[in-house]
Amino acid sequence: MKFYSTNKKSPAVDLEEAIMNGLAPDGGLYMPEAIPKLTNDFFNRASSLSFQDIAFEVGKNFFMPVIPENVLRIMVQESFNFDVPIVKLDKHLHVLELFHGPTCAFKDFAARFMARLFGFFAERAQKEITILVATSGDTGSAVAHGFLNVIGVKVIILYPSGKVSPLQEKQLTGMGENITALEIQGTFDDCQKLAKQAFLDRELRQKINLASANSINVARLLPQSFYYVYLCAQLNDKKLPIVVSVPSGNFGNLTAGVIAKKMGSPIAKFVAATNSNDVVPKYLRTGNFRPIPSVSTISNAMDVGNPSNFARMLDLYANDVEKMRTDIFGISFSDVATRGAILDVFQKYRYIMDPHGAVAYLGLQDFLNKSKGYSGIFLETAHPAKFFEEVENVIKESVSMPDRLKSYLEREKRAFLLKNEFSELKNFLLQ
Ligand SMILES: *Cc1c(COP(=O)(O)O)cnc(C)c1O
Repeated sequence: MKFYSTNKKSPAVDLEEAIMNGLAPDGGLYMPEAIPKLTNDFFNRASSLSFQDIAFEVGKNFFMPVIPENVLRIMVQESFNFDVPIVKLDKHLHVLELFHGPTCAFKDFAARFMARLFGFFAERAQKEITILVATSGDTGSAVAHGFLNVIGVKVIILYPSGKVSPLQEKQLTGMGENITALEIQGTFDDCQKLAKQAFLDRELRQKINLASANSINVARLLPQSFYYVYLCAQLNDKKLPIVVSVPSGNFGNLTAGVIAKKMGSPIAKFVAATNSNDVVPKYLRTGNFRPIPSVSTISNAMDVGNPSNFARMLDLYANDVEKMRTDIFGISFSDVATRGAILDVFQKYRYIMDPHGAVAYLGLQDFLNKSKGYSGIFLETAHPAKFFEEVENVIKESVSMPDRLKSYLEREKRAFLLKNEFSELKNFLLQ
């Protein structure tokens, strides 16, 4: 399988180059040259397959033969060693819980699998790879955990000093081993700018094998398609057409869903649910895409004003907003509505949503109110305990914290404090 750039000005490359480059040289995002079709035979037996079996069957179309069959088996066994439950709230209303991984956010799926891909390439080439990642919180912790002790790979995390939650900071800085945290005296945008500068610096590129774990990497995109196939296999309520609501920020998650649909998964419709950062719902309404500076909300992992995977969505629908509308319904919600949904669902079903899942729930309800006869499922992308201050304020009850989150709080913070200056980062990387 080759991977082409959405800008179509760089040549197609193989899996290793697509993953090591991150972004294509022409500034485009890599896409698989063909989207494999899963067979009817596969879907007939899929309901009896485990998540790992499904990940293997789907993944081999993209990753074999570059990744040998036995290696891919081990990769999916190790990456997806946690539950992926579907919870029924009502007759035609379900939740796919994607937060049972080690850091309690759905980013574990992609980060754990990507870490093993990088590990494979580091070993095969007998070289050390340094992953540089800027984070506003969740990505960094999933990456830190996913890459922990992967041989041949070092991870450097840049995070903005004082701008991540205390729990997130422990998740970023408490890992040790091959994970190093740099606390930057600046904002998230500054961290991102520093990382970009490093990728452009010729001396650094010559001396270090730098790679990016950020959401544009195709190694992060593809593993996210696995759980859409799995949900279609496992959902009991399939007589009606399926609509899946996805809480979206950079739109990697939704893009992976569209890829799963193109592989043949029986998903009739997607809801692109956002917070006030609503450039994609606006695009679906008006046909105009206008990036904005991001606005802060309580579903902060979706505070994105210029979604990086939008280029892939355009590519999948051949730049045709009409075509995109056939598959995707877009809608945005305020923080007030999000809090209201958390309370409603808690009172009605005793189910506790986090703010991101709540946005997806609202999007689904809006769609189902307008269109009858669907089986609805929304994605819950984070454990509510990750956002316990906000959630407890709304439901007036305490949210119990899973042991794996509690254990982070006992870790010791270890980070290097750096000024927001490229020379500081460069010296650090070269030493
Ligand atoms: C990153 C994140 C999202 C947004 O996912 P995208 O793929 O960027 O659209 C949603 N919810 C949570 C909890 C996240 O961490």
